[in-house]
Amino acid sequence: MANIIDGKIIAEKIKDYVKKEIENLKSDGIIPKLVSISVGENQASMVYINQQKKNCEKIGINYEILSLPEDINEQEIIENIEKLNKNPEVTGIILQLPLPKTVDARKIQSKILPEKDVEGVNPVNMGWIVYGRGIIGPCTALAVKEIIDYLGINLYGKEVVMVGHSDIVGKPVALLLVDKFATTTICHIGTSDAGKLEEHVKRAEILIVAVGKANLIPGDWIREGAIVIDIGINKVGDKIVGDVEFEKAKEKASWITPVPGGVGPVTTAILLKNVIMCAKWAKNR
Ligand code: NDP
Repeated sequence: MANIIDGKIIAEKIKDYVKKEIENLKSDGIIPKLVSISVGENQASMVYINQQKKNCEKIGINYEILSLPEDINEQEIIENIEKLNKNPEVTGIILQLPLPKTVDARKIQSKILPEKDVEGVNPVNMGWIVYGRGIIGPCTALAVKEIIDYLGINLYGKEVVMVGHSDIVGKPVALLLVDKFATTTICHIGTSDAGKLEEHVKRAEILIVAVGKANLIPGDWIREGAIVIDIGINKVGDKIVGDVEFEKAKEKASWITPVPGGVGPVTTAILLKNVIMCAKWAKNR
């Protein structure tokens, strides 16, 4: 029977680090300030933004919400970002998604100064990950690495299978792990369509899944003793579940993240850590 990875414990450890760093920054006269930009009205985003505000303020990060109208054009959003880029009081910027369909999210994200890019989505920050020298990175990808480090796993030569190749989760996770000499396979829709997903999953010593399809990975595919990190979030009836068939998978895995309560809280804590990394970066500007 697998040990359950409690994301809240790992998150608390990260938050302890963040609190200490905030004290250090304050003694240098820097108060971290995160500005959240949202475009248009979106109820789900509002819940998320308010939660973010609460988390930041609780730990000592100033949080400001900049709500832009639904009919704003790309250039006007960019102008707002440029103002924030130039404002020395603002140490971090987060662009809330989704954006209206007429707006190119990646283009807008690339306008956030890399040193203020708390989500690590600017191509410059992504690029530093390719070089193995990332300071800021996408929160969920860093959360996966944090979980593996917490478990004390030596990645050298390990068979890692990453299911999902999105720009902000699957791809950066694979890069971070390959850098530690894990033998990393990335699976995606092409793997599934070729009928090869099962064979890859079955040999994974560390399996990481970020797709967004409930029960995509049946429990009996899990290799005996594997570590399973399930990033997926799916609503099934009134329950939230991951992408892995949890009850059966936990009979075979050695460690497994629950959904909810696994990767989610660690991701939230990594955002706070990224805010601090950006504020420290500001100190050296
Ligand atoms: P995306 O939709 O951007 O990416 C999903 C990936 O899964 C794509 O690479 C897609 O391939 C691949 N895929 C789709 N169907 C299959 C299949 N049948 N077999 C194998 N691969 C498949 O999602 P995200 O990466 O943003 O998020 C993934 C999940 O993780 C979601 O449920 C999301 O809610 C959750 N999430 C959770 C977070 C947390 O903190 N816990 C944070 C971020 C995300 P292709 O593009 O080729 O179709």
